[in-house]
Amino acid sequence: INFMIEPIQRLTHMSMQFQEGITGFQRFMEIINLKPAIENKPNAITLNDVHGEIEFNQASFRYEEHLDNVLVNLSLRIQPGEYVALVGPSGAGKTTLCSLIPRFYDVTEGDVLLDGINVCDIDLQSLRKTIGVVQQDVYLFTGTVKENIRYGNPAANDEEIIAAAKHANAHDFIMNLPNGYNSEIGQRGVKLSGGQKQRLSIARVFLKNPSVLIFDEATSALDNESESIVKESLESLAKGRTTIVIAHRLSTIRNAERIIVLTEGGIVEQGTHSALLAHDGAYAHLYSKQFELQV
Ligand code: ADP
Ligand code: MG
Repeated sequence: INFMIEPIQRLTHMSMQFQEGITGFQRFMEIINLKPAIENKPNAITLNDVHGEIEFNQASFRYEEHLDNVLVNLSLRIQPGEYVALVGPSGAGKTTLCSLIPRFYDVTEGDVLLDGINVCDIDLQSLRKTIGVVQQDVYLFTGTVKENIRYGNPAANDEEIIAAAKHANAHDFIMNLPNGYNSEIGQRGVKLSGGQKQRLSIARVFLKNPSVLIFDEATSALDNESESIVKESLESLAKGRTTIVIAHRLSTIRNAERIIVLTEGGIVEQGTHSALLAHDGAYAHLYSKQFELQV
């Protein structure tokens, strides 16, 4: 039996690293011995001041070993500091589209550009440092609250960590934990609610201070009360940064500067909430469907 346990432990360990994000992802690829498809080019460009302009230029993407393209000739430009929402049915390719910006995958055809530079020409570490992702699933590791926040920027000092937690509406609940910032998280430590975990992950991203943000269903799993406080933290994080929000509940993205509707056929509509409702097309249809469900 023993011969089975070790691989299982390794698998568990690997999946933990996988969830750690980018570095974990790379390690995961190395461990399972896949050819790392995503690599730095020789003389890759290191970014300095990132404005956060994002452009998809006739981008197509297909997952390896899959026949169908998820994205076909998609073109889209997002201005620096713009707050856009990406909506559409499940499976339309919203997460996939966003994963092309930090190069979790590379486009099959076309280009993705950040500040006019092809992301494939940018040093990977430099690229990923400038992009913050908040997802539905938050990965916290065993350790203290402070260590978990510091993960966003290993060089951060305590003051910076506390400031980030305050920005993320996390400071007060942290101070109410038995050992404050030194409280242990995990099986033997304090239990946190979904909304509290999400606020820790937002504090991390505040510390990271990226120019581009991706919120992928960040509040989808939360109840209404925690959703509203997490939403507040996300909005404060988004100030002055290019932000793409993917949200299932359309009520959460009503005030986006631009709503982009993605279906399997590509981008079918874009505009403000009121313009799209007036247009009475795909968005209006999605919206009324959700509204009916809630009544
Ligand atoms: P959305 O976020 O809009 O729900 P996704 O980007 O997750 O859509 O998925 C788009 C399509 O790509 C779906 O058909 C999905 O099954 C497929 N897909 C997503 N991730 C992978 C993957 N890692 N490997 C293969 N196919 C995938
Ligand atoms: Mg998705």
